[in-house]
Amino acid sequence: MKADIRVCSAWRERHDRPVYTLSSDCPECGADAENSAPAPFDPEDPYGEYRRSLKRRNR
Ligand SMILES: [Zn+2]
Repeated sequence: MKADIRVCSAWRERHDRPVYTLSSDCPECGADAENSAPAPFDPEDPYGEYRRSLKRRNR
């Protein structure tokens, strides 16, 4: 049985690392929590570069 673990959908912008939770929103920032699959550290993530550039611009 697959564990129903979710991860903060905004952790890349708001936290230093993924924030996992069993509820429907992040306990730390209140953002929506999304199903943790696929893995948050997927090296094939097609949006990874986009998010990284966003993060740089926000700093
Ligand atoms: Zn969060």
